[in-house]
Amino acid sequence: MTPAQPLADLDTAALRAAHADFSAAYDELKAAGLALDITRGKPSAEQLDLSNDLLRLPDGEYRDAAGTDLRNYGGPNGLPELRAIFAEALGVPVPQLLALGNSSLTVMHDTIVQALLHGVPGGELPWAGRSIGFLTPVPGYDRHFTILERFGIRMIPVPMNDDGPDIETVASLLAADDSIKGMWCVPVYSNPTGAVYSEEVVRALVSLPAAPDFRLFWDNAYVVHHLSDERPAPIDVLALAAEAGNPDRPLIFASTSKVTFPGSGVAFFGASETNVAWFQHNTAAQSIGPDKINQLRHVRLLRDQEGLAAHMERHRAILEPKFAVVDETFRERLAPWEAGSWNAPKGGYFVSLDVLDGCAKRAVQLAKEAGIAVTPAGATFPYGDDPRDANIRIAPTFPPLDELRAALQGLCTAILLAESEALLAERN
Ligand code: PMP
Repeated sequence: MTPAQPLADLDTAALRAAHADFSAAYDELKAAGLALDITRGKPSAEQLDLSNDLLRLPDGEYRDAAGTDLRNYGGPNGLPELRAIFAEALGVPVPQLLALGNSSLTVMHDTIVQALLHGVPGGELPWAGRSIGFLTPVPGYDRHFTILERFGIRMIPVPMNDDGPDIETVASLLAADDSIKGMWCVPVYSNPTGAVYSEEVVRALVSLPAAPDFRLFWDNAYVVHHLSDERPAPIDVLALAAEAGNPDRPLIFASTSKVTFPGSGVAFFGASETNVAWFQHNTAAQSIGPDKINQLRHVRLLRDQEGLAAHMERHRAILEPKFAVVDETFRERLAPWEAGSWNAPKGGYFVSLDVLDGCAKRAVQLAKEAGIAVTPAGATFPYGDDPRDANIRIAPTFPPLDELRAALQGLCTAILLAESEALLAERN
């Protein structure tokens, strides 16, 4: 089958013939009895092996550089040595960067709960007890949406561009509605589009007129997760916010989940001095201190900023070929038919694929029935509702290369079948 033109441009006879070919290919795929999974952005076992020294560290040690006994309670801000390793990458001075528990998602969730219960600095009232909204760039990260949905916070989608969220939309929404209290931002290698926010976009986000208790939830989960030598220039969001007269607007979150072991890593929180004091006051009622032994383990493994960079290069060596397979497969199978458009990210964990409108759910369903689990279509939109039913998030990191290749080939077969079905249905 040599495709000559976009699927949508085929005449009906040619479309019927293509559909028959795709159906036959799909039947073969189903008969192969695959059991493949490209649903979630998890590191592969090979990547986890890079951090296996954590399993023996800290090797009987239990004191930090200042001589403090880390076996005991205390030290709520986390180990200064570990905060120093991440401070530059995150653009937060060490005193304003806290090293916490094992999950940044927990910190984001709890920050929203504290804001609901107590309000944030600069706000007169708690966020709870009235209708509030969050701006949610789409496509975005489903677990961000889940937190908001759980607390009944209105989600207001904002389209994502290559340089970040669409600023004209953000500006007009913020100007019209001071019940908008927050916005999710994954500023570097965003989940799932891989977009990196430009300095212009960041300057706009920190300076646009908004409610005094409006906060940017700056989830910098992928700031050190490069896949090429082309590194985005670091953007100091706290300094830009201070310069714009809104020093308290950004709340920065990150973790080592995809640096070391997800679930056994260290989360970070960074912000202005005022926000950090607010955060410390809240968390003092929650905990007598984080797992400092785990933090020491991470200091011993990563050592310093250079050690962190070298560690991330080892991740890159494993991941780069996987992202290349995604691009190659889509070029080979989808591009000739103009059956999809996707990004080739310079970092992060995902590829965002748009198929023809109205075909994503059906394609994912067909893939599932052929034993290929893909992130549910719609997951990248609030309430699981992609109004175009077009977006599919590809998570290529976890499976071995050959399984990834097989899963993507199968997914392409499912996409082509779903699209040819939909186009034929339109003509009947
Ligand atoms: N933020 C983003 C944007 C993510 O993609 C993920 C993991 N998929 C997380 C946060 C989860 O972070 P953690 O493991 O620190 O809770």
